[in-house]
Amino acid sequence: KDYKSEVKPTWCPGCGDFGVLNATLRGLAGMKLSPDQTVVISGIGCSSRFPHFMKTFGFHSVHGRALPVAQGLKMARPDLTVVAVGGDGDFFSIGAGHLIHAALRNIDITVVVMDNEIYGLTKGQTSPTSPHGHVTKSTPYGLLASQFNPIATALSLNVSFVARGYSAKPKDLAALIEKGIQHKGFAFIHALSPCPTFYHTFDAWDAAVTSIPGDHNTQDRNSALALALETEKQFTGLFYQEERPTMDQAAHAQMLQAKSFDINQYMQRYA
Ligand code: SF4
Repeated sequence: KDYKSEVKPTWCPGCGDFGVLNATLRGLAGMKLSPDQTVVISGIGCSSRFPHFMKTFGFHSVHGRALPVAQGLKMARPDLTVVAVGGDGDFFSIGAGHLIHAALRNIDITVVVMDNEIYGLTKGQTSPTSPHGHVTKSTPYGLLASQFNPIATALSLNVSFVARGYSAKPKDLAALIEKGIQHKGFAFIHALSPCPTFYHTFDAWDAAVTSIPGDHNTQDRNSALALALETEKQFTGLFYQEERPTMDQAAHAQMLQAKSFDINQYMQRYA
């Protein structure tokens, strides 16, 4: 309740984003994070209305740019908990380039991508995660491009925390969001979130969603990739986690070094 704003969500009835909002509220409450120390940053799209429905600080930024804003904030204010949210169009189309660099930098932020495999806000055109052959008003003869695989891409980019949840299972998704926030580094959470107005209903994903096998080793990137490439099932849970240095910590250490910068030593070394 402490994290929910007075603004009522404006999503269509039955939209999967309600479940992701519920999971995020639960996750933050579970961690007892102060709303004053938490910032939720989005881009543009149906799911990017998210910050308006939260009582934390928030920033509704520009299409595809939630990640640069979130990373910049964390670099400037490492004391804050920073969560970036948005949709598949936002993160995997116009904002896709930022994903690569966020993975390389490993700045300590959490990203939750609400994937409905369609552009909902602009009324149902194909997005990068729409399946090959999908017929919409923008592809009346079927989509010619291949379908983007978010988990396989995140694993290939060596993102240090990779997980998938489902908006129909908000408790499980909340636990993943908590784990992602606790993880020191860039945490990528792919949330299946149907758009019943322009594409999926929950039924379609209910049949495909399966928990990751209990014996999966979350430090084994190759077996995580094998699960991600499975076409019949949509595995949910933690695929991969690795602890490694984060750029926000390293940059602050370098800033301390820079304070004792000696121009003469520098000139001797590089002149
Ligand atoms: Fe949700 Fe789709 Fe409606 Fe957008 S158009 S609010 S994604 S159901």
